[in-house]
Amino acid sequence: MIRTSDAARRTPGYYFPTPLAGAPDGLAAVCAALGHALGATRAARRPEGPLPAGDPTAVLAAAGAPLGPAQLPTEGIGPEGALRLLARVLVEHGVDLTHPHAAAHLQPPPLAVAVAADALADAGNASVDTYDSGPSAIAVERWVVDVLARLAGLGPAADGVLTPGGSLSNLLGLLLARDAAAARRGVDARRHGIAALPGPVVLCSELVHFSVHRACAALGLGEFAVRAIPVDGRRRMRPEALAGVLRNLGPERTPLAVVATAGNTDFGAIDPLPQLAEVTREHGVWLHVDAAYGFGALFSEHLAPRLAGLELADSITVDLHKLGWQPAAASVLLTAGAAAFAPLGREVAYLNPADDTDAGYEGLLGRSLQTTRRADAVKIAATLLAHGRRGLGRLVDTCHGLATHAQQRIAAEPELELVCPVELTTVVFRYRTPYPAMDDEVNARLRRRLAESGRALVGRTATRLAGPGSPRRVCLKFTLLNPAATQRDVDALVDAVLDAGRECLTELDRELDEEGAA
Ligand SMILES: *Cc1c(COP(=O)(O)O)cnc(C)c1O
Repeated sequence: MIRTSDAARRTPGYYFPTPLAGAPDGLAAVCAALGHALGATRAARRPEGPLPAGDPTAVLAAAGAPLGPAQLPTEGIGPEGALRLLARVLVEHGVDLTHPHAAAHLQPPPLAVAVAADALADAGNASVDTYDSGPSAIAVERWVVDVLARLAGLGPAADGVLTPGGSLSNLLGLLLARDAAAARRGVDARRHGIAALPGPVVLCSELVHFSVHRACAALGLGEFAVRAIPVDGRRRMRPEALAGVLRNLGPERTPLAVVATAGNTDFGAIDPLPQLAEVTREHGVWLHVDAAYGFGALFSEHLAPRLAGLELADSITVDLHKLGWQPAAASVLLTAGAAAFAPLGREVAYLNPADDTDAGYEGLLGRSLQTTRRADAVKIAATLLAHGRRGLGRLVDTCHGLATHAQQRIAAEPELELVCPVELTTVVFRYRTPYPAMDDEVNARLRRRLAESGRALVGRTATRLAGPGSPRRVCLKFTLLNPAATQRDVDALVDAVLDAGRECLTELDRELDEEGAA
């Protein structure tokens, strides 16, 4: 049988640059193309450390230079040339998350199975918004949502949807919470907006992720709608403080949601979910749990009990591009019930007319703010099937073990100060100088020094070291998400911090002497 494209190919002047990836033999072309990229990555000069050495302006210029002038070329260099060129650029001038000294962000080195499955999904280019844009992708997403909802302990009515990241899962969770609260007050927020909703408030720990503030701004609530509840010594929201604030809100205020965090970005601290759920139930307020970071702890038998109470949430943010080793984005918003998505329902003539829907032709348009939506679930499904709970649990346990090792090592170093006990896979600490007034400057400088040398990529944050009201101080952070790293790698990372700290201290001393002499 001659396919149309074969006939077309014989037409004079016909241009067909490369086989289409989703064609029956398309993956062969994808593999061949990846082969060119592989050759180039092998030949490339990899930086010695996790980051290319040099100051940022020089690194960015060097990375962009091989692409040539920013002008669309009239004639292309072909897929092989393009892939070789870009593979080299990415390897020589990029971040290497597989390097054992890459420890800055919640950005894991992705698993090969997930990357391969993502390419497979891309080749098909299904979209999950309508049935006829990708039935298999819809089925895979439904499976992933059900698996994760069950892992979270949600009931059989649970539902969910994939989103382009934790920030957007939080936005979507708060949108559903906002519209549910509005509906209870007789306000149809989708049609009329929120002008008729008195004093909307979102309550959360003072350490909540900033995406909650942005979500409130985007949802028309304003960032001032966020009411920060103080944390305890282990940086967890205090339920009795939450209860007090809710009790005193008064009728001119509408509490839309309590956002609990299960694994905050810096400390991995997990808010006391059962107690918070008791308070929200008593006040009839939506409980959203931001488990973007912490959800992956459920894979570990050892750490899962720390997330007890997650099953009491009305909605949950999950990021498997953190503790889940997926390439971004692999985020999910889970809900306790499907009814939560009602405000997103929409009938569109060209996508989901009611008679089609009634006949079973239904996609996931009504669960998302997006229309065209990638089959991100495929890589997640491949990973869950390939490694199972036990396999993923081992990865989590390994990274947790690295973090506790780092904690011991830091606690034993007189020049270092542990800021908070390890909960998941991050460790927050400081380099201590003999002059406390200089500590912030030295910690900030030493991190930049390590980045510029390309030797190590360490995280940075700022937090209060003493109680409420004390100043925020600059801290260093290891975010340990590389299960191939060893305790010896962590020791070398600590050594690199110590060396850089001493160098910065000497440098600052010299600068101060020079200033004094001048
Ligand atoms: C990372 C993170 C987010 C944001 O997720 P993105 O995928 O980066 O948008 C939200 N909340 C917490 C607790 C996080 O750690």
